[in-house]
Amino acid sequence: MTAATLTIDLEALCANWSTLDAKSAGDVKTAAVVKADGYGLDAAPIARALHKHGVRSFFVAVAEEGTKVREAVGNDADIYVFSGMMLTDAAHLKSHNLIPMLNAPKQLYQFRSECSGAPFGIQLDTGMNRLGMEAEEFIPNREVAQDAKLIISHLACADDPDHPQNAQQLEQFHAMTDGLNAPKSLAATGGTLLGADYHFDMCRPGVGLYGGAPFQNAFPVAHLDIPVIQSRTVRAGETVGYSAGWTATKDARVATLAAGYADGLIRAMGGNDVHLYAGDVACPLIGRVSMDLLTVDVSQLDDVPDTLSLLNSHQTVDMLADAAGTIGYEILTSLGNRYARRYIGE
Ligand SMILES: *Cc1c(COP(=O)(O)O)cnc(C)c1O
Repeated sequence: MTAATLTIDLEALCANWSTLDAKSAGDVKTAAVVKADGYGLDAAPIARALHKHGVRSFFVAVAEEGTKVREAVGNDADIYVFSGMMLTDAAHLKSHNLIPMLNAPKQLYQFRSECSGAPFGIQLDTGMNRLGMEAEEFIPNREVAQDAKLIISHLACADDPDHPQNAQQLEQFHAMTDGLNAPKSLAATGGTLLGADYHFDMCRPGVGLYGGAPFQNAFPVAHLDIPVIQSRTVRAGETVGYSAGWTATKDARVATLAAGYADGLIRAMGGNDVHLYAGDVACPLIGRVSMDLLTVDVSQLDDVPDTLSLLNSHQTVDMLADAAGTIGYEILTSLGNRYARRYIGE
Protein backbone atom coordinates (compact mmCIF):
# COMPACT_ATOMS: atom_id res chain seq x y z
CA MET A 1 0.00 0.00 0.00
CA THR A 2 1.88 3.05 -1.20
CA ALA A 3 -0.95 5.55 -1.66
CA ALA A 4 -0.72 8.56 0.62
CA THR A 5 -3.54 9.07 3.10
CA LEU A 6 -5.61 12.22 3.15
CA THR A 7 -7.39 12.46 6.48
CA ILE A 8 -10.33 14.83 6.62
CA ASP A 9 -11.32 15.92 10.09
CA LEU A 10 -15.07 16.49 10.02
CA GLU A 11 -15.07 17.50 13.68
CA ALA A 12 -12.62 20.31 12.88
CA LEU A 13 -14.82 21.27 9.91
CA CYS A 14 -17.90 21.57 12.14
CA ALA A 15 -15.94 23.42 14.82
CA ASN A 16 -14.77 25.92 12.18
CA TRP A 17 -18.38 26.39 11.03
CA SER A 18 -19.48 27.03 14.63
CA THR A 19 -16.71 29.58 15.20
CA LEU A 20 -17.67 31.44 12.02
CA ASP A 21 -21.37 31.13 12.90
CA ALA A 22 -20.64 32.76 16.27
CA LYS A 23 -19.21 35.84 14.51
CA SER A 24 -22.71 36.93 13.51
CA ALA A 25 -25.75 37.75 15.64
CA GLY A 26 -28.15 34.94 16.50
CA ASP A 27 -30.75 35.64 13.80
CA VAL A 28 -28.15 35.75 11.01
CA LYS A 29 -27.94 32.35 9.35
CA THR A 30 -24.65 30.72 8.46
CA ALA A 31 -24.57 28.61 5.32
CA ALA A 32 -21.77 26.41 3.97
CA VAL A 33 -20.20 26.70 0.53
CA VAL A 34 -19.39 23.19 -0.74
CA LYS A 35 -18.59 23.94 -4.39
CA ALA A 36 -15.72 22.20 -6.19
CA ASP A 37 -16.66 18.97 -4.44
CA GLY A 38 -16.36 20.49 -1.00
CA TYR A 39 -13.15 22.39 -1.84
CA GLY A 40 -11.63 19.13 -3.00
CA LEU A 41 -12.43 17.19 0.17
CA ASP A 42 -15.60 15.42 -1.14
CA ALA A 43 -18.88 17.26 -0.87
CA ALA A 44 -20.85 14.19 0.30
CA PRO A 45 -19.23 13.55 3.71
CA ILE A 46 -18.62 17.29 4.11
CA ALA A 47 -22.28 18.25 3.53
CA ARG A 48 -23.54 15.28 5.55
CA ALA A 49 -21.42 16.25 8.56
CA LEU A 50 -22.41 19.92 8.37
CA HIS A 51 -26.08 19.02 7.98
CA LYS A 52 -25.90 16.79 11.04
CA HIS A 53 -24.25 19.74 12.81
CA GLY A 54 -27.29 21.90 11.99
CA VAL A 55 -26.42 23.60 8.68
CA ARG A 56 -29.49 23.99 6.46
CA SER A 57 -28.19 26.15 3.58
CA PHE A 58 -25.54 25.01 1.10
CA PHE A 59 -24.02 26.58 -2.00
CA VAL A 60 -22.57 24.84 -5.05
CA ALA A 61 -21.08 26.33 -8.22
CA VAL A 62 -23.07 24.50 -10.90
CA ALA A 63 -26.31 22.53 -10.95
CA GLU A 64 -24.62 19.12 -11.38
CA GLU A 65 -22.79 19.61 -8.09
CA GLY A 66 -26.14 19.91 -6.36
CA THR A 67 -26.98 16.25 -7.04
CA LYS A 68 -24.40 14.88 -4.63
CA VAL A 69 -25.22 17.45 -1.98
CA ARG A 70 -28.96 16.76 -2.22
CA GLU A 71 -28.32 13.04 -1.84
CA ALA A 72 -26.09 13.71 1.16
CA VAL A 73 -28.39 16.05 3.09
CA GLY A 74 -31.89 14.89 2.16
CA ASN A 75 -34.75 17.27 1.60
CA ASP A 76 -34.72 19.59 4.59
CA ALA A 77 -31.97 21.90 3.36
CA ASP A 78 -31.71 24.67 0.77
CA ILE A 79 -29.11 24.16 -1.95
CA TYR A 80 -28.23 27.27 -3.95
CA VAL A 81 -26.41 27.26 -7.30
CA PHE A 82 -24.05 30.22 -7.85
CA SER A 83 -24.01 29.94 -11.65
CA GLY A 84 -27.77 30.37 -11.73
CA MET A 85 -29.64 28.61 -14.48
CA MET A 86 -28.00 27.69 -17.72
CA LEU A 87 -30.27 26.57 -20.56
CA THR A 88 -29.92 22.85 -20.01
CA ASP A 89 -30.32 23.03 -16.22
CA ALA A 90 -34.07 23.45 -15.78
CA ALA A 91 -35.03 19.77 -15.40
CA HIS A 92 -32.09 19.12 -13.10
CA LEU A 93 -32.87 22.08 -10.88
CA LYS A 94 -36.47 20.97 -10.55
CA SER A 95 -35.79 17.28 -9.94
CA HIS A 96 -33.27 18.02 -7.19
CA ASN A 97 -35.03 21.06 -5.81
CA LEU A 98 -32.01 23.32 -6.33
CA ILE A 99 -32.24 27.10 -6.08
CA PRO A 100 -30.46 28.97 -8.88
CA MET A 101 -28.89 32.34 -8.10
CA LEU A 102 -30.07 34.10 -11.27
CA ASN A 103 -27.29 36.28 -12.63
CA ALA A 104 -28.77 38.15 -15.56
CA PRO A 105 -32.21 39.31 -16.74
CA LYS A 106 -32.04 36.59 -19.40
CA GLN A 107 -31.64 33.90 -16.73
CA LEU A 108 -34.53 35.41 -14.84
CA TYR A 109 -36.85 35.29 -17.86
CA GLN A 110 -35.79 31.75 -18.76
CA PHE A 111 -36.31 30.62 -15.19
CA ARG A 112 -39.76 32.14 -15.02
CA SER A 113 -40.82 30.42 -18.24
CA GLU A 114 -39.22 27.03 -17.46
CA CYS A 115 -39.58 26.80 -13.68
CA SER A 116 -42.46 29.11 -12.87
CA GLY A 117 -43.30 29.05 -9.17
CA ALA A 118 -40.05 27.34 -8.09
CA PRO A 119 -37.78 29.07 -5.57
CA PHE A 120 -34.99 31.27 -6.93
CA GLY A 121 -32.30 33.63 -5.75
CA ILE A 122 -30.69 36.63 -7.41
CA GLN A 123 -27.02 37.50 -7.56
CA LEU A 124 -26.07 41.14 -7.97
CA ASP A 125 -22.83 42.63 -9.15
CA THR A 126 -21.67 45.34 -6.77
CA GLY A 127 -18.21 45.91 -8.23
CA MET A 128 -16.45 42.61 -8.76
CA ASN A 129 -17.62 42.38 -12.38
CA ARG A 130 -17.75 38.62 -12.43
CA LEU A 131 -21.26 37.29 -11.83
CA GLY A 132 -24.56 38.99 -11.16
CA MET A 133 -26.91 41.67 -12.42
CA GLU A 134 -25.66 45.22 -12.69
CA ALA A 135 -27.76 47.95 -11.12
CA GLU A 136 -29.31 48.99 -14.44
CA GLU A 137 -30.29 45.39 -15.17
CA PHE A 138 -31.65 44.85 -11.70
CA ILE A 139 -33.71 47.98 -11.16
CA PRO A 140 -36.40 47.05 -13.75
CA ASN A 141 -36.65 43.65 -12.02
CA ARG A 142 -36.80 44.84 -8.43
CA GLU A 143 -40.48 43.95 -8.18
CA VAL A 144 -39.77 40.31 -9.12
CA ALA A 145 -36.90 40.32 -6.64
CA GLN A 146 -39.38 40.71 -3.79
CA ASP A 147 -40.15 37.01 -4.31
CA ALA A 148 -36.52 35.89 -4.27
CA LYS A 149 -35.60 33.43 -1.57
CA LEU A 150 -32.21 35.13 -1.29
CA ILE A 151 -30.40 38.09 -2.84
CA ILE A 152 -26.62 37.97 -2.78
CA SER A 153 -23.53 39.76 -3.96
CA HIS A 154 -19.86 38.86 -3.57
CA LEU A 155 -16.93 40.92 -2.25
CA ALA A 156 -13.78 41.06 -4.35
CA CYS A 157 -11.32 42.15 -1.62
CA ALA A 158 -12.72 40.86 1.69
CA ASP A 159 -9.48 39.03 2.51
CA ASP A 160 -7.98 42.51 2.98
CA PRO A 161 -10.01 44.27 5.69
CA ASP A 162 -8.42 47.63 4.85
CA HIS A 163 -9.27 47.55 1.16
CA PRO A 164 -11.56 50.49 0.26
CA GLN A 165 -13.56 48.33 -2.18
CA ASN A 166 -15.19 46.50 0.76
CA ALA A 167 -17.05 49.61 1.89
CA GLN A 168 -17.80 50.60 -1.70
CA GLN A 169 -19.41 47.25 -2.46
CA LEU A 170 -21.32 47.36 0.83
CA GLU A 171 -22.71 50.77 -0.09
CA GLN A 172 -23.65 49.58 -3.57
CA PHE A 173 -25.38 46.48 -2.15
CA HIS A 174 -27.43 48.73 0.14
CA ALA A 175 -28.24 51.06 -2.73
CA MET A 176 -29.49 48.16 -4.85
CA THR A 177 -31.42 46.23 -2.18
CA ASP A 178 -32.58 48.55 0.61
CA GLY A 179 -36.33 48.39 0.90
CA LEU A 180 -36.61 44.85 -0.46
CA ASN A 181 -37.91 42.28 1.97
CA ALA A 182 -36.13 39.27 0.49
CA PRO A 183 -33.30 37.91 2.68
CA LYS A 184 -29.85 39.18 1.74
CA SER A 185 -26.29 37.88 1.90
CA LEU A 186 -22.99 39.57 1.08
CA ALA A 187 -20.32 37.80 3.14
CA ALA A 188 -18.15 34.78 2.32
CA THR A 189 -15.39 33.86 4.81
CA GLY A 190 -13.66 37.22 4.50
CA GLY A 191 -16.89 39.22 4.80
CA THR A 192 -17.95 37.19 7.83
CA LEU A 193 -14.78 38.44 9.54
CA LEU A 194 -15.35 42.07 8.49
CA GLY A 195 -18.09 42.51 11.07
CA ALA A 196 -21.83 42.91 11.49
CA ASP A 197 -22.28 45.53 8.75
CA TYR A 198 -21.48 42.83 6.21
CA HIS A 199 -23.65 40.03 7.63
CA PHE A 200 -27.22 40.94 6.52
CA ASP A 201 -29.41 37.80 6.84
CA MET A 202 -26.88 35.13 5.95
CA CYS A 203 -23.12 34.56 5.88
CA ARG A 204 -21.85 31.98 3.42
CA PRO A 205 -18.29 30.92 4.28
CA GLY A 206 -16.39 28.37 2.24
CA VAL A 207 -12.63 28.25 2.67
CA GLY A 208 -12.69 29.05 6.39
CA LEU A 209 -14.68 25.88 7.04
CA TYR A 210 -11.85 23.89 5.50
CA GLY A 211 -9.18 25.58 7.58
CA GLY A 212 -8.01 28.25 5.14
CA ALA A 213 -7.15 31.96 5.26
CA PRO A 214 -8.44 34.56 5.79
CA PHE A 215 -9.88 32.66 8.80
CA GLN A 216 -6.69 32.73 10.88
CA ASN A 217 -7.85 30.67 13.85
CA ALA A 218 -9.29 27.80 11.86
CA PHE A 219 -8.56 24.23 12.82
CA PRO A 220 -6.80 22.35 10.02
CA VAL A 221 -9.24 19.99 8.31
CA ALA A 222 -7.02 18.23 5.75
CA HIS A 223 -4.09 16.13 6.97
CA LEU A 224 -1.80 14.43 4.50
CA ASP A 225 0.53 11.53 5.34
CA ILE A 226 2.81 10.24 2.62
CA PRO A 227 4.56 6.84 2.68
CA VAL A 228 8.34 6.63 2.49
CA ILE A 229 9.24 4.26 -0.37
CA GLN A 230 12.98 4.13 0.29
CA SER A 231 15.83 6.08 1.84
CA ARG A 232 19.50 6.34 0.98
CA THR A 233 22.71 7.99 2.02
CA VAL A 234 23.71 10.86 -0.24
CA ARG A 235 27.37 11.79 0.05
CA ALA A 236 28.61 15.36 0.29
CA GLY A 237 28.73 16.81 -3.22
CA GLU A 238 26.16 14.42 -4.71
CA THR A 239 22.88 15.76 -6.05
CA VAL A 240 19.23 14.74 -5.72
CA GLY A 241 16.44 14.75 -8.28
CA TYR A 242 15.74 16.27 -11.69
CA SER A 243 18.10 18.95 -12.92
CA ALA A 244 20.36 17.93 -10.04
CA GLY A 245 18.27 20.45 -8.13
CA TRP A 246 19.78 19.88 -4.67
CA THR A 247 23.36 19.27 -3.67
CA ALA A 248 24.36 17.70 -0.36
CA THR A 249 26.80 19.97 1.48
CA LYS A 250 27.56 17.10 3.88
CA ASP A 251 26.59 13.44 3.98
CA ALA A 252 22.81 13.21 4.25
CA ARG A 253 20.00 10.68 4.58
CA VAL A 254 17.37 11.26 1.89
CA ALA A 255 13.91 9.66 1.88
CA THR A 256 11.81 9.29 -1.26
CA LEU A 257 8.05 9.64 -0.75
CA ALA A 258 5.06 8.43 -2.77
CA ALA A 259 3.28 11.61 -3.90
CA GLY A 260 4.05 14.39 -6.34
CA TYR A 261 2.62 17.09 -8.54
CA ALA A 262 0.18 14.63 -10.11
CA ASP A 263 -1.37 14.50 -6.63
CA GLY A 264 -1.76 18.25 -6.43
CA LEU A 265 1.54 18.93 -4.67
CA ILE A 266 2.26 21.89 -6.83
CA ARG A 267 5.69 21.67 -8.40
CA ALA A 268 6.50 25.31 -7.64
CA MET A 269 6.61 24.57 -3.89
CA GLY A 270 9.92 22.70 -4.35
CA GLY A 271 12.87 24.46 -2.76
CA ASN A 272 10.68 27.00 -0.97
CA ASP A 273 10.89 26.13 2.70
CA VAL A 274 8.38 23.27 2.75
CA HIS A 275 8.84 20.55 5.35
CA LEU A 276 7.65 17.04 5.95
CA TYR A 277 7.02 16.22 9.55
CA ALA A 278 7.95 13.19 11.59
CA GLY A 279 5.77 14.02 14.58
CA ASP A 280 6.99 17.48 15.56
CA VAL A 281 10.31 17.24 13.71
CA ALA A 282 10.45 19.24 10.47
CA CYS A 283 12.47 17.67 7.65
CA PRO A 284 13.12 19.85 4.59
CA LEU A 285 11.65 18.99 1.21
CA ILE A 286 14.66 19.02 -1.12
CA GLY A 287 15.12 19.06 -4.89
CA ARG A 288 12.40 19.19 -7.50
CA VAL A 289 8.89 17.87 -6.92
CA SER A 290 8.45 14.98 -9.38
CA MET A 291 5.17 13.71 -10.82
CA ASP A 292 4.78 10.95 -8.23
CA LEU A 293 7.66 11.48 -5.82
CA LEU A 294 9.10 13.87 -3.26
CA THR A 295 12.59 13.80 -1.76
CA VAL A 296 13.17 14.81 1.84
CA ASP A 297 16.30 15.35 3.92
CA VAL A 298 15.70 13.14 6.95
CA SER A 299 19.28 13.25 8.27
CA GLN A 300 18.17 14.49 11.67
CA LEU A 301 15.91 11.46 12.31
CA ASP A 302 17.30 8.45 14.16
CA ASP A 303 14.93 6.16 12.27
CA VAL A 304 13.13 6.84 9.01
CA PRO A 305 9.41 6.40 9.72
CA ASP A 306 6.93 4.64 7.38
CA THR A 307 5.20 7.92 6.57
CA LEU A 308 5.90 11.65 6.80
CA SER A 309 3.25 14.34 7.09
CA LEU A 310 2.89 17.27 4.69
CA LEU A 311 -0.35 18.83 5.97
CA ASN A 312 -0.82 19.01 9.73
CA SER A 313 -1.15 21.49 12.56
CA HIS A 314 2.44 22.71 11.92
CA GLN A 315 2.09 23.21 8.19
CA THR A 316 -1.26 24.43 6.88
CA VAL A 317 -2.67 24.66 3.36
CA ASP A 318 -1.82 28.37 3.42
CA MET A 319 1.83 27.70 4.20
CA LEU A 320 2.05 25.28 1.26
CA ALA A 321 0.24 27.88 -0.84
CA ASP A 322 2.78 30.58 0.07
CA ALA A 323 5.61 28.24 -0.90
CA ALA A 324 3.95 27.50 -4.25
CA GLY A 325 2.99 31.11 -4.97
CA THR A 326 -0.74 30.43 -4.78
CA ILE A 327 -3.64 30.43 -2.30
CA GLY A 328 -4.94 27.79 0.09
CA TYR A 329 -8.05 27.34 -2.07
CA GLU A 330 -5.89 26.02 -4.92
CA ILE A 331 -3.94 23.67 -2.66
CA LEU A 332 -7.20 22.19 -1.33
CA THR A 333 -8.94 21.86 -4.69
CA SER A 334 -5.82 20.34 -6.28
CA LEU A 335 -5.55 17.46 -3.77
CA GLY A 336 -5.46 14.40 -5.93
CA ASN A 337 -7.75 11.45 -6.38
CA ARG A 338 -4.99 8.89 -5.77
CA TYR A 339 -5.06 9.49 -2.03
CA ALA A 340 -6.72 7.00 0.26
CA ARG A 341 -9.29 9.22 2.00
CA ARG A 342 -10.19 8.80 5.61
CA TYR A 343 -12.92 10.80 7.36
CA ILE A 344 -12.75 11.39 11.11
CA GLY A 345 -15.99 12.03 12.97
CA GLU A 346 -18.41 10.66 10.38
C1 LIG B 1 -16.73 30.75 -3.41
C2 LIG B 1 -17.78 31.70 -3.01
C3 LIG B 1 -18.09 31.89 -1.65
C4 LIG B 1 -17.25 31.28 -0.55
O1 LIG B 1 -16.03 31.99 -0.53
P1 LIG B 1 -14.87 31.70 0.54
O2 LIG B 1 -13.87 32.77 0.27
O3 LIG B 1 -14.35 30.35 0.19
O4 LIG B 1 -15.47 31.75 1.88
C5 LIG B 1 -19.18 32.69 -1.34
N1 LIG B 1 -19.89 33.31 -2.31
C6 LIG B 1 -19.59 33.19 -3.62
C7 LIG B 1 -20.41 33.91 -4.63
C8 LIG B 1 -18.52 32.38 -4.01
O5 LIG B 1 -18.22 32.27 -5.31
